[in-house]
Formats: sequence, C-alpha cells, structure tokens
Amino acid sequence: INSFFQPVQQLVQLYTQYQQGKAAIGKIRGLLSSEPSVVPGTRVLPPVEGEIVFDGVTFGYLPDRPVLQGVDLRIAPGETVACVGPTGAGKSTLAKLVTRFYDPSSGKITIDGYDLRDVTLDSLRRQIGVVPQEPFLFAGTLRDNIAFAGPSATDEEVWAAVDAVGLRDLVERSPEGLDTPLHERGQSVSSGERQLLALARAFLASPRVVVLDEATSSLDLRSELRVEAALDALLEGRTAILVAHRLSTAMRADRIIVVDDHRIIESGSHTELVAAGGAYAAMFETWAAHSH
Ligand code: ADP
Repeated sequence: INSFFQPVQQLVQLYTQYQQGKAAIGKIRGLLSSEPSVVPGTRVLPPVEGEIVFDGVTFGYLPDRPVLQGVDLRIAPGETVACVGPTGAGKSTLAKLVTRFYDPSSGKITIDGYDLRDVTLDSLRRQIGVVPQEPFLFAGTLRDNIAFAGPSATDEEVWAAVDAVGLRDLVERSPEGLDTPLHERGQSVSSGERQLLALARAFLASPRVVVLDEATSSLDLRSELRVEAALDALLEGRTAILVAHRLSTAMRADRIIVVDDHRIIESGSHTELVAAGGAYAAMFETWAAHSH
C-alpha cells in the first residue's frame, strides 16, 4: 500500500509546493509594487545610460530628524560607488532613495537628468535592479527563483545568468537541474549560494543601474571569493551603488564614499582615501589589523 501511495503523496506535496511558490510570487510582486509613501510620476523613463545625481538631498524618516542632509553626489554611467560608514549613518537610506522608496524632503535625485519624481515607478524600477541584504527565495524551482523578474526568460538566458555568477555546479548537482524545486525559504541552499542566486536574478533582469545592499552574514573564504567574482560580473558596465559591509568589497569599487554625520564626509578611490589619512584610512587600518 505504501509503495503505491508514496508517489501520489509526493505528487501532492510537489503540487502544494508549486502552488505555494506561485502564491509567494504573487504576494512578493504585490509588496514590491505597492508604494504608499510616494506619488508616482507620469512620464515613462526612456532607456538610460545610468547617470545618478543627488542634488542637495535632505531626508529623514521623522520630521526634524534628518538622516541625510544636503547630500551632493554624482555617479557616472558605469561607475561603481561603495558606501561605507558606521551603522545607522544612512547608507541604506541613501540607496533606498535611488529606488524611490522615499522622496527627499528637499533637493532632488535625477537619473540621466530626469527627476525620479517625474517618472513612473514601473519604468524606473525596470532600469534599477535592487539586490537586498536578505534576498528572498521561495518554494519554486531554481529557474523560478532566478527568473523572478523575467518569467518569460529562455533557458539560454537563465543559463547565461547561472554561468555569470558561477552557479553551474549547483544547478548540475540538483536532481532536476533548473527545474529542481527549492524548499520554502531555500533551506537547502547555503548562505553563499543564496547570495549568488540573488546576483543571478539581478543579472538576468539586466538593469542599467544596480543598487545593492551587501549581505552581512559571514561566508567562508571560498564562498566569499565566489560572491566577489559574481559581483564583478554583475556590476561590469553598470552604474552601481553598493552598501558595503565588508571593506574587501568596498575596495573593489571605482569610488568609495564615507557616510557619517548625515553627510558624505569622504569620497575617493581606496588608494586616495588611504593616502588622505581620514576616516576611511582609520577604518581600513582597523580592518587590516583584524583580518591578517
Ligand atoms: P545604515 O545603512 O548606514 O546602517 P540606515 O540608512 O539603515 O543606516 O539608517 C539611518 C538612520 O535612519 C538610523 O538612525 C535608522 O534607525 C533610521 N531608519 C532607518 N530606516 C528607518 C525607517 N524605516 N523608519 C524610521 N527610521 C529609520
């Protein structure tokens, strides 16, 4: 009796997982598209080069409690800028403003000269990919999880993303390849693989601009190197704002900005900032002393 029912049970279980996966996709899409705090613009943002400019941006979550004050920043198309600074300084807030989760209380943010407030959220988000600190995985297949932003992606496109982030071995080890179901919240994948899946997802969506909040979970050296290589592949040729929790990541950026005291207090390449002997140099010294 058992051997008869087992496959049926498995089928039922698979189907339930599949349904849960579909439901999760719907829920997450709903969450991402509901933006009660901002009034969407009406212009459709044309394809951009990816120049992001902060012009005198002041913002706080509460009135009279500014998190950022008078921030000026220009990020050139294709440039990767890493934000570093103490916890609570406003790095993630700066990143969230670019994706227009909130609007500045004064000043403006533009993309290729378009004020973010003037364009539709849909046309903006299509060109700005977000990689959150805790990427979500759901109980769909590997393919569903990677092609989340583009469900009509071809196998070739999915494999290109898989290869770009170095996950071919994970897919090939999985019993049904790309069609292998992930368990809910993806317990079956390691923390490093989860990050790589999130990077593959962003790679597939291929946005001009990437806003990335680096995961804080510590990885073994091999996983860390894999994530760094995947990051390089994703950010190549794209404008990127990277909230860096690891100096080893920040060091790879074209430019580093140090956010503290509601402002950008330093800006320059790793070499320039170390030579300048300021806040970044002090952070780097502490980090270097502890990691070697
Ligand atoms: P960082 O990324 O540098 O650690 P954040 O941008 O997350 O800093 O936070 C900056 C400040 O804004 C902190 O004081 C934090 O407590 C506050 N903050 C962040 N998010 C919210 C929120 N959704 N509502 C109210 N305050 C917030």
